Amino acid sequence: MKNDFMTRREAVTGLGVGIAGLAVSPAFGAESNIEPSNGFAGMENPTTKYPRPPFKPQQQPFPGLSSKMDPQPDNGEKSYKGSGRLTGRKALITGGDSGMGRAAAIAFAREGADVVINYLPAEEEDAKEVIDLITKAGRKGYAIPGDLREETFCKRLVEDSVKRMGGLDIVVSNAARQQTKPSILDISSEDFDATMKTNIYGPFWLLKAAIPHLNPGSSIIVTTSEQATDPSPELFDYAQTKAANTSTVRSLAKFLAPKGVRVNGVAPGPIWTPLQVAGGATNEKLMQFGKATPMGRPGQPAELASIYVQLADNGASYSTGQIYGAMGGGGQP
Ligand code: NAD
Ligand code: MG
Repeated sequence: MKNDFMTRREAVTGLGVGIAGLAVSPAFGAESNIEPSNGFAGMENPTTKYPRPPFKPQQQPFPGLSSKMDPQPDNGEKSYKGSGRLTGRKALITGGDSGMGRAAAIAFAREGADVVINYLPAEEEDAKEVIDLITKAGRKGYAIPGDLREETFCKRLVEDSVKRMGGLDIVVSNAARQQTKPSILDISSEDFDATMKTNIYGPFWLLKAAIPHLNPGSSIIVTTSEQATDPSPELFDYAQTKAANTSTVRSLAKFLAPKGVRVNGVAPGPIWTPLQVAGGATNEKLMQFGKATPMGRPGQPAELASIYVQLADNGASYSTGQIYGAMGGGGQP
């Protein structure tokens, strides 16, 4: 037995080495991530890989810019390495200028896909950086700004994407509005309406327009949230839209499975993105952002990129109607 299993003492000693390694690991940084840790080349310690709270208080007007965040989010700009998993694919990503959408756009391009990103006109600066990164990856990147709260725009976005890329086979419905309010009592009808329009009507119009273009092998990926299953009181309106997004995944998956089109969701926990610093969280919450997770820090968009790739990839051909979580050890998809 002793040869096969660690004794309690060995296990405790091993743990001690782990903690010592933790103390000397680099604090953070995309390039330092690939430093060997604990003596094994290529190993990364997820607890020390990225910044931990406390963070500086910061607020931007909605929808916010990634370039103005401190610290800067890691969207995989320096770290994501492709291996041809999506060669020749054609992807449309809403909210592709920043956060998870940007991480997915960079990863898809480096995996060989052409990518259309949609965003709000106020986010042009972030969007330009993404198009530049897609181009540098040797793929075609198209920027189509516009407001998903308008049905006519959602239809035009899909039609223009199909025209520019010569087809469509990956749709990432990822854009969303999150504005924190102490409780239901503080939410105006205008606020409620804007959240519903962005997070429920937008995806409805977008997906309805996109589905007729999708051939067998295509993949729809919806960004939902841990809020779908564990809603916070201060995100009353947002949380119910995320429950709707999760329902969209499960319902559409049943409709589209016989047609060979897969539909899956990604459910992030607290992730360091503009959404949170542009009205999505109070400064009080931001300063301790991610601390309550077992990992003790927020996630970075780059840490979810491989999930979007996996869900789009042919290799995941039996996965549909699933919600993949990335929550630092807490929550549930
Ligand atoms: P983000 O701010 O980077 O992305 C959201 C994007 O939504 C914006 O970039 C903007 O382009 C787009 N958007 C908002 N309103 C729009 C409108 N009316 N028309 C067109 N585009 C619009 O933030 P993010 O956190 O990367 O958000 C991406 C997804 O992740 C969202 O669905 C969000 O609900 C989800 N999510 C985020 C977190 C988190 O902690 N950041 C946690 C769980 C789920
Ligand atoms: Mg943005």
